[in-house]
Amino acid sequence: MRNLYVDYGTGDDAVTALRDVDLTLHRGEVLGLAGESGSGKSTLAYAVTRLLSPPGVITGGDVVYHQRDGDDLDILSLTPQQLRAFRWQELSIVFQGAMNSLNPVHTVHSQLTDVLQAHRPEMSKADRTARAEELLKLVGIATDRLGSFPHQLSGGMRQRVMIAMALALEPEIVIMDEPTTALDVVMQRQILRQLVRLREELGFSVIFITHDISLLVEFSDRIAIMYGGRIVEEAGAADIYRDSQHPYSDGLLHSFPALHGPRRELTGIPGSPPHLAAMPSGCAFHPRCPKAFDPCAAKVPVLAAPGGQGDRAVACWLHHTP
Ligand code: SF4
Repeated sequence: MRNLYVDYGTGDDAVTALRDVDLTLHRGEVLGLAGESGSGKSTLAYAVTRLLSPPGVITGGDVVYHQRDGDDLDILSLTPQQLRAFRWQELSIVFQGAMNSLNPVHTVHSQLTDVLQAHRPEMSKADRTARAEELLKLVGIATDRLGSFPHQLSGGMRQRVMIAMALALEPEIVIMDEPTTALDVVMQRQILRQLVRLREELGFSVIFITHDISLLVEFSDRIAIMYGGRIVEEAGAADIYRDSQHPYSDGLLHSFPALHGPRRELTGIPGSPPHLAAMPSGCAFHPRCPKAFDPCAAKVPVLAAPGGQGDRAVACWLHHTP
């Protein structure tokens, strides 16, 4: 994604939800995207998949998909027909609360084979059923559940069916938008472990969206932190955990109690995320930032590598010359 901008609404009523987003997902990696509600994470997922519905509109930038054969695909200019072939086949998405997206009056079998029927019409009925069984096994569900209706499955199982569906055509990229938020922590961990194992087996890339940065530290290769529609920090997961450089990332990391070490008071982040229609000037985080200083309210910090560290980027005047 290069210089991606998304607005909601048009004309004087338009508010900007994504601003100048530059992000690269490398083949085979898990890229975590974190930030509070309203920071633009889901908007980014919808924009990249061209699923933004009105009043959402992409107002600038590029989304380029580098195919295995070496050709580049400009996702923003695909025709509806090309888009239909691209989705599921190359890129799939597991939505927020996806476990409630299963059709209640169809069995798991009919919903899994429907994807195959639409995209692989040459497959026989028996092959489709065999593939549906394989997919269920892949996510750790017994194949005798194929005939079940969604209400006969637990929440965790329904969520895993959705993940199986997203993997049905072996896409190169899977976007997971808060896929485990509605589940208890034990189930959440089980599903994420399974996901990491599947990624190793099948080699797809993942954009994992959540407000829970502690999950990302454990399961991602790289993490990008969003605030006010911008990426404010991007680095390897271990670097963010050990040495985050943006005060907002620090705030997110200190919003969770530590399981080990001495007890400490949770600091959290004072205030609330900005409203899109009233974005603060300069660095959007400045009204909440404990380290804000002179230039912060006046100038928007650019996302760039802090001195000598080319493998990470941060948008904060503490690390760049205003
Ligand atoms: Fe805080 Fe200023 Fe850095 Fe923004 S630019 S995070 S206000 S120190």
